[in-house]
Amino acid sequence: MLNQKKIQLATLIASILTLANAFVYPKGFIDWNIGLYAVGIVLLVVTAFLLFFSLFSAKQNKKAWLPALIGTAAYMAVLMPMTFVVNNLVFGKVAPWGWTAICTVLNFVFWLVLVLQIKKRTGDSSKKGAFVCILLLVVFFVVSAVNIYPNYMATNFILYDTTDNYYERMDGIEIYENTVETAIPMTQLHTMIEEHFNAPLPEGKTEKKVLVLGWDGCRADAMTLLDGTSVVERLLQDGGKAYIAYCGGANYPENITQATSTAPGWCSMLTGQWGASHGITGNGIEKENEQMSLFVTAIEDGYIDASAFYFSWDGHLTTYGNEIEYCNEKGYNTTWLYCDDDNMTADSALADLQQADCSDFIFTIFEYCDRNGHEYGYWNLNPMYQQAFADSNEKGNLLVDAVQSRPTYETEDWLILITSDHGGYVRGHGDESIMERMMFIVTSK
Ligand SMILES: [Zn+2]
Repeated sequence: MLNQKKIQLATLIASILTLANAFVYPKGFIDWNIGLYAVGIVLLVVTAFLLFFSLFSAKQNKKAWLPALIGTAAYMAVLMPMTFVVNNLVFGKVAPWGWTAICTVLNFVFWLVLVLQIKKRTGDSSKKGAFVCILLLVVFFVVSAVNIYPNYMATNFILYDTTDNYYERMDGIEIYENTVETAIPMTQLHTMIEEHFNAPLPEGKTEKKVLVLGWDGCRADAMTLLDGTSVVERLLQDGGKAYIAYCGGANYPENITQATSTAPGWCSMLTGQWGASHGITGNGIEKENEQMSLFVTAIEDGYIDASAFYFSWDGHLTTYGNEIEYCNEKGYNTTWLYCDDDNMTADSALADLQQADCSDFIFTIFEYCDRNGHEYGYWNLNPMYQQAFADSNEKGNLLVDAVQSRPTYETEDWLILITSDHGGYVRGHGDESIMERMMFIVTSK
């Protein structure tokens, strides 16, 4: 009788631990939150041990802890490699929510079978206890599912984000002047800026100015999210144009010649050359000064007096390290400001624009889309990616407001551009997919 109570108590504690696990493990496993992940693993191990211990104790086995330990080890040996199997064989790509969901179902079934077996072996006296345990297991199942669902929503593009429906979405976007097939190279941004500086000043204008709004990791099909208040539509309504462009050195479906990554993307736009020429074929490479960016060439060619770069990704400090040194030596009026975050990037550019004699070439890069893309998935049905796009537009509108409210605005000839360095697929970029390779260039004229 005493033994029976012990067994029921152990089973009950195991079920309560299971329920506790439902609150921590989806977050721990999906977001790779190491602290919660560790707690989740410990709870899984202890739960499994207690259930096995109850099962083997019920057979009157005096040394039940030994087979319970072996059972727990076997359970973990099956559970741990499941990440690899589920991600690669079931989803074909990393899908943490998928692993967590499948793990939840399998654990639920496995624990249910154990509880029923324990009940069977301990007889009628365990009826109430077994009922409570099963109830806790069911609640575990529901709580886990609720915790997994937002992530499923955010990353369900694995099932729907195919090349075919990418084309379909792009066809449905009306703002673009061209198609994926006739996409322009991202290096065209450099040409557009040079042409602006080169063109004669329109009547009544005395100075050339350029503002670039760079949206890191913003996909070309994010334009399905335009809602009438975006800075993109604002430029288009004022006579601007939007083009589909490509990164990676070659248009889809040709093979890429440089990674669809951040450093090669921005460097190709700022130098007007591909990686084969400027050497930045991936992140983490220091650019030689043979190929200078527009920040320097526009000054040396006599187009402008001052350029400014506002960004919050420290990789740019590596890419342009030599160039920054060169500017310091030459005493050029160039600003290279590594900001804490997108708010600081916006505030710094705003402060610049509020100066009577603001920088003539202002280049900003906002990380909203790329950050949420890496964290939650690059996909325009993902609420977190939608939020990032909205935030990018909000900051863009603030900066365009600042341009248009300059006291000298009427005598200045402004070109405003919005662009991106690459797209993204699932939670990353750098490869060949159409989702990673297409970006866009929106011009104010
Ligand atoms: Zn990027």
